[in-house]
Amino acid sequence: MISFEELERNYRQVQEKTAEAAIKSGRAPEDVLLLPVTKTQSVETLEMAYRLGMRVCGENRVQEILQKKPVLPGDLVFHLIGHLQKNKVRQILGQVELIHSVDSFELAEVIEKEAVKKGLEADVLVEINAGEEASKFGTSLAQTEALVRQIATLPHVHVKGLMTVAPYVADPEENRKVFQDMHHIYVDIQDKNIDNVSMSVLSMGMTNDYEVAISEGANLVRVGTGIFGARQYTV
Ligand SMILES: *Cc1c(COP(=O)(O)O)cnc(C)c1O
Repeated sequence: MISFEELERNYRQVQEKTAEAAIKSGRAPEDVLLLPVTKTQSVETLEMAYRLGMRVCGENRVQEILQKKPVLPGDLVFHLIGHLQKNKVRQILGQVELIHSVDSFELAEVIEKEAVKKGLEADVLVEINAGEEASKFGTSLAQTEALVRQIATLPHVHVKGLMTVAPYVADPEENRKVFQDMHHIYVDIQDKNIDNVSMSVLSMGMTNDYEVAISEGANLVRVGTGIFGARQYTV
């Protein structure tokens, strides 16, 4: 487990680099949200990060959110960033502020149905496989607008933006084109003013490439190992 001192050092450094990248791209530091990714990290580690100011975190598994959330301070908000199976929708609705990983109309329909049952609304991002990798979830860039328009017809599901998990690359510059493509389609859809769609979140960039992502317009970056060190798979 990471020490408090090391966590503090990492966290501050990533916060500073995020702020610097925002400023370099002509935005204010508060216009880019740093989402610490806490998957596989222990409750104790999350508590330390909370003491350092973390009030929002990203997890990729429904089960892990359901285990951690009840034992952590009530004002720590969770985002689901990993793939969501239809049979887990019921459990996760109402537990997270934002679901980053909606990649099909069928999944959005399940969210709609469960949201109605629970009397809730759900904020979601549409996940795009912008690097066109066979191993990744997400819709294609070409189909994104059509999918956004389809989901927009569901009254209890609100598309707030787009998300991608870029390819793992040795040099983050290799992902610049992917981030540019994402920003392009984000602005494109924004300009169309689709009812029940607010293109306000562009979630892209991870430990390896978040500064490049911010320079290409990301306003939410998901950073795990850069803050918490190696993942703790025994959790
Ligand atoms: C794990 C994960 C991250 C964080 O990855 P790091 O390389 O550790 O920063 C970001 N986004 C998603 C969807 C993830 O699953």
